[in-house]
Amino acid sequence: MKREEVLVTKEELNIQNEYAKKVKEYYDTQGKTPKALVETFGCQQNENDSERICGMLETMGFGFTENEDEADFILYNTCAVREGAEMRVLGNIGALKKIKEKRPELIVGICGCMMQQESMSKRIKSKFKHVSVVFGTHSLYSFPEIMYKAVCENERVISRIESEGRLCEDIPVKRKPGPSAWVSIMYGCNNFCSYCIVPYVRGRERSRDPEAVIAEIESLAKEGVKEITLLGQNVNSYGKDLERDIDFADLLLMADKVEGIQRIRFVTSHPKDMTDKLIATLPKVTKLCRQIHLPFQAGSNRILKEMNRGYTKERYLELAEKIRAVMPDASFTTDIIVGFPGETYEDFLETVDVIEKVRFDSVFSFIYSKRGGTPAAKMENQVPEEIKHKHFDILLDVQNRISREINETYSDRIEEIMVEGISKNNPDAMCGRTDSGKIVNFPKDDTLSVGDFIKVKITKISTWSLAGERV
Ligand code: SF4
Repeated sequence: MKREEVLVTKEELNIQNEYAKKVKEYYDTQGKTPKALVETFGCQQNENDSERICGMLETMGFGFTENEDEADFILYNTCAVREGAEMRVLGNIGALKKIKEKRPELIVGICGCMMQQESMSKRIKSKFKHVSVVFGTHSLYSFPEIMYKAVCENERVISRIESEGRLCEDIPVKRKPGPSAWVSIMYGCNNFCSYCIVPYVRGRERSRDPEAVIAEIESLAKEGVKEITLLGQNVNSYGKDLERDIDFADLLLMADKVEGIQRIRFVTSHPKDMTDKLIATLPKVTKLCRQIHLPFQAGSNRILKEMNRGYTKERYLELAEKIRAVMPDASFTTDIIVGFPGETYEDFLETVDVIEKVRFDSVFSFIYSKRGGTPAAKMENQVPEEIKHKHFDILLDVQNRISREINETYSDRIEEIMVEGISKNNPDAMCGRTDSGKIVNFPKDDTLSVGDFIKVKITKISTWSLAGERV
């Protein structure tokens, strides 16, 4: 697709703004402030989409609630990565039928990656008649039009656009208040890893113009945001689709110059796009956090090939070494899939070998589960569930030991943390995060606010977190 076809035009956006105004007028004439409940499933990209959905709802006059009974509009923004999660969403949507029977004026909606799959969209259309707003990821920018039809014309709207994906700037965003924000720098993925549904539901890679990304970061800084996470399915292939010479390393250096921002993170990157230029740039980005997340997925070269990952175990280890050479104190995290079709015990041991060699601070490990519509789901040599679980448990034991050993090196260290609020597990404690991504709990201090940077001495270690005292 040509760039001009990818970008949603100002005219198209104006039409959507007009629809948003009409929805607001509709509720205004009724003397009503409608309330929306938006529930998000899945990854940060979906969270980011929900922030834009809520921004659009706000321009349509909506307020927000977390209570189903007082909502005029309930929307589930869904994830398609795992079949189990899809089943849960369908269960939740089914349960809304009773509320809809009691309050027929309630509008029930479902959107996101699940609805970008034709089979799922059709299933909702035929089996869940109480759902009247259905739209996939590619229809996001036309949400005001969808709502206009549903609210003002009482229509059932099912919108699923077949597309490689478009890019829309200037959609209003409603973020949760706080010192941290996600900034999408690109959408979609070109990689077609054989187990992954993302390229089928989020389209091809589309990079935002660097000026738009930087303008968003500048405006976040003005609002008081101190930490940004650059977001994309594959951030280090940023810029490949742009008609000018810019890549992710260049974008990082541009973001580094934005005043007011103190921490920069990015997620997710792909080993095959981790260039020497990017690695050499990492230490030059002064605000870059000492944390690198680089998924390796499997240690066996045969399995990596079946996964269509585009690198070998040796290449991954070489990359880890190169990154460690320029950022020796960086924490390292990764994603791993256990039990991909055909994975033998010997293959699995290759994965453990990478874990032992790289010594990750933590891993996000998943037991492989079939994802309909992907090549891996059709592979015949699926691994029995008990074997997958057995290997998974072995992996957890190895990683827990390493995580604890690494955390022990923090003992007695003075670390700077950004305060995140009251600790989840202890109302008398607060928590913050080091730039290497470690959670640190410390005694509650009423003089502190979320977003403050303080120094703490680490006094206690556990596998998953640290504890300390303010110094
Ligand atoms: S890189 Fe692979 S796993 Fe990641 S989103 Fe793209 S296809 Fe999915």
